[in-house]
Amino acid sequence: MKRKSVAILGATGAVGQRFIQLLDGHPWLEVAALAASERSVGKPYREACTWRLPTMLPESIGRMPIQPLRPEKLQGIDLVFSALPADAALDVEPTFAEAGMAVSSNASAFRFAEDVPLLIPEVNADHAALIPLQQRRRHWSGFIVTNPNCTTTGIALALKPLDDAFGLEAVMATSMQAISGAGYPGVSSFDMLDNVLCLIPGEEEKMQQEARLLLGKFERERVEEARFVLSAQANRVPVLDGHTICLSVKLNATASPQQAGTVLSGFRGVSAAQGLPSSPPRPLAVCPEADRPQPRLDRDAGGGMQVSVGRIRECPIFDLKLVVVVHNTVRGAAGGSILNSELLIHEGYI
Ligand code: NAP
Repeated sequence: MKRKSVAILGATGAVGQRFIQLLDGHPWLEVAALAASERSVGKPYREACTWRLPTMLPESIGRMPIQPLRPEKLQGIDLVFSALPADAALDVEPTFAEAGMAVSSNASAFRFAEDVPLLIPEVNADHAALIPLQQRRRHWSGFIVTNPNCTTTGIALALKPLDDAFGLEAVMATSMQAISGAGYPGVSSFDMLDNVLCLIPGEEEKMQQEARLLLGKFERERVEEARFVLSAQANRVPVLDGHTICLSVKLNATASPQQAGTVLSGFRGVSAAQGLPSSPPRPLAVCPEADRPQPRLDRDAGGGMQVSVGRIRECPIFDLKLVVVVHNTVRGAAGGSILNSELLIHEGYI
């Protein structure tokens, strides 16, 4: 297969850098253009960006000039990855879709538009069927798909097999989120060191709504949200990468921690999501150790694409409690977006 030409919007930020790292040597995708804000336009990438990943910036990428966020400046591009802030994404992403490009977005701007798929391939690959409807309604030859908020990605992957096997009724989710989730340079060290920040604006609302949408059913050209309720509390903690989420779940059917563990470790996701270049062999890694998962030890499981789950035990208020770790800029952002694009290439949408 000829590799698809890719542009990254917001290439200089925390998620943009992760895209560059993950796309280096990708078998299906090739980075052909980089774009960012007016502040960066015209500069070579190496100068425009403060590279903060431990791997080397690829030489050829470092030399690429930053382009403006305008589709007419990015000719010959098949696929656009967006790592823009939501307000910029709201204006910019439709112009690329209208110009015929596929846009795979990390931003929240279109996550709740009823004709825009919010996708995690293993969870709801069938929601991609919203794409033709979106193109018809908006008169676009391209389209937008989104991936969920980084925390929701971990929650939805852990909840999907439990919902399928036992039915979900209610979920309490308390997150301890890494500082890279706030972008670069993000939260000041004065605020973050020796501290826990108990407010991440907008985060709890996203977690509460996105999980229900992801586990919802695609029927008659729309997604019917799942019925369970989710109550979220989001905190920022002094961890560099990897969000930890403590879940308490109330189920429709009785399940022991052992039964839940078996279901979680047996989860493979829908078949369309298996065998793609970025698919981990198993979406979930169930930790047998009593004190895992931990972000420093488990965020890189499966190259950052596996979500780690552990401490599955009885809950005296609900039914079960468990702990989830997700790499926020890999599975929860750039890696999730790349996996979405691989699914869409495999399914013939791109
Ligand atoms: P970031 O580090 O602040 O990077 C933002 C990027 O967008 C930079 O390339 C910046 O370019 C560009 N940009 C900023 N303001 C702009 C404007 N007004 N117009 C056009 N471009 C602008 O943010 P991030 O953490 O990478 O997040 C990017 C997106 O992904 C956000 O929507 C975020 O919510 C989402 N997301 C992030 C994570 C995570 O873990 N960080 C996870 C999931 C989703 P310049 O360098 O030129 O300013």
